[in-house]
Amino acid sequence: MRLETPGAHSPKSMKIGILALQGAFAEHSRVIERLGAEAVAVRLPGQLHGLDGLIIPGGESTTMSRLMAEYQLLQPLKYLAGGGLPICGTCAGMILMAGSVPDFALQTLGLMDITVRRNAFGSQVDSFEADLEMPALGQPPFHAVFIRAPIIEAANSTVEVLAWLPDGAAVAARQGNLLAVAFHPELTSDLRLHRYFLDIVASR
Ligand code: GLN
Repeated sequence: MRLETPGAHSPKSMKIGILALQGAFAEHSRVIERLGAEAVAVRLPGQLHGLDGLIIPGGESTTMSRLMAEYQLLQPLKYLAGGGLPICGTCAGMILMAGSVPDFALQTLGLMDITVRRNAFGSQVDSFEADLEMPALGQPPFHAVFIRAPIIEAANSTVEVLAWLPDGAAVAARQGNLLAVAFHPELTSDLRLHRYFLDIVASR
């Protein structure tokens, strides 16, 4: 019998940074720890050293963009993503990863070749929940919580759209080691989206 020892591919040896400037960072940390990896709060560039992956949480993209500029995190994050660091952005995090966000006057990281529209559901449905068919996560559908959510309006051919709402709006996408979802996977007890991200980290 061969015993599995925790190696480079085990969550136990993974250090996942959670951008902790604003928003739902504590909830993401809890999920990452439940999956057996180490969660590290990131507020300053020095805290990016030695990470195996990074999560940019939901919150308010304008505030986060301002704070990322103020704390000089934009350039180091672009550099690390260029070197292949797996990054997962949820909701406001997805906005910050997008290459193009019309009507957003502040800086994004511009990591993914997607065009994202903020607050895409307007005021009549600020928040809602939906069971998403997401083949990358298998069955059953993923129960997704949308809070003043963005959508992906356009994506180039190197981007794989992972889920759509019934009206055709794209709400999850992957491009290489980069993963972006319009909803809040940290607010439900379903760990599959975070596990999918840790699999990207493990296969790097
Ligand atoms: N509407 C917010 C923004 O534009 C995102 C909301 C969220 O992250 N839940 O940043």
